[in-house]
Amino acid sequence: MSKVVILGTAHGSNVPGKRSPDGKFREYKFSREVIAMLKPRLESHGITVFVDMPSDEVPRPGNTELSLRCKYVNGICSKFGKENCVYVSIHVNAAGSDGQWHDARGFAVYVSRSCSAASKRLAKSICDLAITRGLRGNRSVPKEHYWQADFYVIKNTSCPAILTENLFQDNRADVEFLSSQKGKEAIATLHLDALKQYFGHK
Ligand SMILES: [Zn+2]
Repeated sequence: MSKVVILGTAHGSNVPGKRSPDGKFREYKFSREVIAMLKPRLESHGITVFVDMPSDEVPRPGNTELSLRCKYVNGICSKFGKENCVYVSIHVNAAGSDGQWHDARGFAVYVSRSCSAASKRLAKSICDLAITRGLRGNRSVPKEHYWQADFYVIKNTSCPAILTENLFQDNRADVEFLSSQKGKEAIATLHLDALKQYFGHK
């Protein structure tokens, strides 16, 4: 049975905001860097990997981008069987949109409100791993160990789907960590290990 992971890039270089207050950290770039590290590692475990929107620039306006991402994912689901696929959209959180630094730190993972049990299982597993690895930050974590929100790309994809918010792009300490090789490595490995667990690899 084929195991398929579709990795979702965050936003694009032509999307306003989505950066640290000093402009040095860009969410679109971080997401694509983590995906470039993660894809060959998943493939080395026999997993087939697709990336929904690898180019730096994305179609505008935003609803065109998001519907194209879902169309791409759902096409793969039709081909491979949605039960063999999982969609993982890789983002970085922000506490504000005011261009200021904020205090909130740490990892979060979202599933849609009407999601499958499989989505919840993967979400809980990646959150548990994040906590174990000291990425919890300073916010309260829901007792389920995932957050629920109807973000377009996780609501409108037919396979199990999660959206990860990998620390905060408007927290100085988080940005320093995410900008380091160690930080990128930690986020790539977190996703790799959670997906290996999900597919039952040892
Ligand atoms: Zn984002």
